[in-house]
Amino acid sequence: MDFLPIFYDLKGQRCLVVGGGDVALRKADLLTRAGACLRVVSPDLCDDLDELIQNNGGEYHCSVYSPDYLSEVALVIAATDDFNVNVKVSEDAKQQNLPINVVDNPDLSSFIFPAVIDRSPVVIAVSSGGQSPVLARLLRGKLESTIPASYGRLAGLVGRFRDQVKARFSTINERRGFWEFILQGPVAEMMFAGKDEQAEELLEAALAAAGGEQKAVGEVYLVGGGPGDPDLLTFKALRLMQQADVVVYDRLVSAPVMDLCRRDADRVYVGKARKNHALPQEEINKLLVKLAKEGKRVLRLKGGDPFIFGRGGEEIDQLMAQGIPFQVVPGITSASGCAAYAGIPLTHRDFAQSVRFVTGHLKDDSCDLPWQELVHEHQTLVIYMGLVSLAQICERLIENGMAADMPIALVEKGTQPDQRVITGTLRSIATLAEQAEVKPPALIIVGKVVTLREKLDWFSKVQS
Ligand code: SAH
Repeated sequence: MDFLPIFYDLKGQRCLVVGGGDVALRKADLLTRAGACLRVVSPDLCDDLDELIQNNGGEYHCSVYSPDYLSEVALVIAATDDFNVNVKVSEDAKQQNLPINVVDNPDLSSFIFPAVIDRSPVVIAVSSGGQSPVLARLLRGKLESTIPASYGRLAGLVGRFRDQVKARFSTINERRGFWEFILQGPVAEMMFAGKDEQAEELLEAALAAAGGEQKAVGEVYLVGGGPGDPDLLTFKALRLMQQADVVVYDRLVSAPVMDLCRRDADRVYVGKARKNHALPQEEINKLLVKLAKEGKRVLRLKGGDPFIFGRGGEEIDQLMAQGIPFQVVPGITSASGCAAYAGIPLTHRDFAQSVRFVTGHLKDDSCDLPWQELVHEHQTLVIYMGLVSLAQICERLIENGMAADMPIALVEKGTQPDQRVITGTLRSIATLAEQAEVKPPALIIVGKVVTLREKLDWFSKVQS
């Protein structure tokens, strides 16, 4: 280790910043966030730094640097664009054993600033030892995206209950077990959902129940896994995928998305291919309840969005009836994913002012869609589960007055590396699809917006 990472209490301490520009501003801002009092020395000052000093009740000296300014300070930062001044500040500070940071110059510094992920009171600092601040910042970006913003409030809750928990459990192991349960279970999830009071109540209840016949209650995360590209997952989806004990998933969840689930989680495939349900819906509902009652954190992972042709409502209905905690995480539905990656905007000022999502899964081959409503001049029609009935769907639309040369697109395996898009007209598409041997999952988009693809297709170009 080239540097010792420490967290330094600067509350109420005077810190000297030499320099008055943007660089000085960023450091001064960090110092004030840690409760320090500013002393800024510089012949000129940017407006934001001026405001910061005033809000902070700090001192500003409109002057060039002199060693006198080092008196009674706890820490020094040199952030001028004059190398010689920076060297002088560094030498003077070192002589007085004051911690000194010269911005972007580890050789002149006795300490360096890490990239900071601030979830106060939880603070994470990342350093590359001054070798590559950009790398440290990129790493910070990754951490920022995986650590929920509400971690700080969760830490605050833990802090408030620390003494009570200590009094309740006599051994360190018991305490650790309790906190692990709290920090990875429903209490933490409540907090992340912004329901601080309920989280606190749940914690109190868990504490009261502890020691007796404690039965862990599991929970269910109904998560939308999107149309396939794992980069389209939400931060929340990813976090829950990485903490669940068991994953219940179906056919539409892509392999790269599955790869992001916790490695040692159990996996249960309940995948539905058309007419070939591996597990009937009622059984899936029961399975979720059973697993949660065993105390497991159950990830119910679905393709696209769970509330769009995903029967998510039926699954949580059961959970609710059984009093099992759950949450629903939306995913990018295949209409959005396929449209975006096919270069077909679903609405457009000139072509479509509304968009309609329908299922083309026609029961017993009867045509029970409200065809009249679907035929609408300025409306884009997105048809899920329509591949098998494609020919029929096109016929009905034409019968009900849609132009036979209306543009239509079929998007196969949307957002995935092997995505294919086949375009045609209502009259031609069934034959084209047959020739191309289009396979599920495929989405149908009908409307004039399809013509925009010619110009707006970008994904196939990125790939080639
Ligand atoms: N809940 C899902 C839809 C489930 S219905 C969602 O929000 O996307 C299943 C249908 O979704 C498939 O028949 C197909 O029409 C469509 N679909 C799902 N993923 C797809 C993909 N990657 N590419 C094309 N269509 C897809």
